[in-house]
Amino acid sequence: MLDSIYSPVEEVFWRPITQKGHRLFVKREDLSHPFISGNKWRKLKYHLRDAKEKGFERLITYGGAYSNHLLAVACAGAKYKFKTFGIVRGEEVSNHMLSMCTLFGMKLFFVTRDDYKNNKELLAKKLANNAYVINEGGDSALGEQGVAEVIKDIGESTSHLFCSVGTGGTLAGLYKGILAEKRSNLTLHGIMVVKGDGDIQQRFNSNEVKLYDRFHFGGYAKVTPLLKEFVKAFASETGILLDYVYEAKMMYAIAQLCEENALGSNQNIMALHNGGLLGMLSMLD
Ligand SMILES: *Cc1c(COP(=O)(O)O)cnc(C)c1O
Repeated sequence: MLDSIYSPVEEVFWRPITQKGHRLFVKREDLSHPFISGNKWRKLKYHLRDAKEKGFERLITYGGAYSNHLLAVACAGAKYKFKTFGIVRGEEVSNHMLSMCTLFGMKLFFVTRDDYKNNKELLAKKLANNAYVINEGGDSALGEQGVAEVIKDIGESTSHLFCSVGTGGTLAGLYKGILAEKRSNLTLHGIMVVKGDGDIQQRFNSNEVKLYDRFHFGGYAKVTPLLKEFVKAFASETGILLDYVYEAKMMYAIAQLCEENALGSNQNIMALHNGGLLGMLSMLD
C-alpha cells in the first residue's frame, strides 16, 4: 500500500531567489497522486498498513469542509478496500471536495463546531463501530514516520528546507527525518498558516526548527489581493501552481526571507510542495 511515490525535485529559476545568489528547488510532492497528494500520502502510508495488519475494514477520520485529508482518506480507502467515514466540522454543506469524497464512497457526518472541538473521538466511536481512527490531518506518530521518509530524497547540498504548517504533523515528521538521517546542517523552516497557534509554537523548540507566524495573511484560509497576485506571478513564471491556503504562503515567505537576506548567501533552498490544489478551486475567481 502506498509503496512508491512519484515526487521529483525540480529546480526553479525565479528572480526573487536567484538574484540573491540562491538556488531554489521544489520537491513536487504535489505530483504524487491527484487525490492522495503530498503530505497526505506520506501521512496515510503507515496508518493504512497498521489498519490492515490489525484487521480493520473501516476507517474514520475528521476534517473541515474543504479538507485535503478527508479526500485523501476517501480515495485511499477505496483503493485499498476500506469503508470510509468522515466527520465534517460545521453545518451541513455541499461543495466539490465533499462531493468527491462521496464519489469515493465515504460516508459523511456533519457535527457542530462545538462537538467537533470537544467530542469528536466519542462521536467517531458511536458513528462507526470497529473503525480504525485516523486523527485530523493524519497527525500522529505513524503520520510523522511517513513524512520523515521525505528527508531521504533531500540532497546533501540543500541547506534550508521549507514547509507550510497546519497541524504541524508534517513539520514534526521532517524533523524526525533530519534526526534519523543525521542531517544537522539542514535548517528546517515552518511557515504557520494558522494565526497565533500557541500549541504549535509550544510543540517545537526554536533551536531545532524555525517557525514563522508572520506569513499567514490574516489567518487560516485567508486570502488577500497581494497573495493572489503572488500566486499568479509565480505560476506564470515557473509553471507551478500554489494553493492559497498553504503553499502560496510558504513560497511568499521564502521570497521575503531572501529579500531580508535572512538565509545567508549562495544557499540551496528546498520548498516542499504538498499539493492541495483541488481544495482551492472554489476560491478562484
Ligand atoms: C494538509 C496540508 C498542509 C499542512 O500539513 P500539516 O501536517 O497539517 O501541518 C500543507 N500543505 C498542504 C497542501 C496540505 O494539504
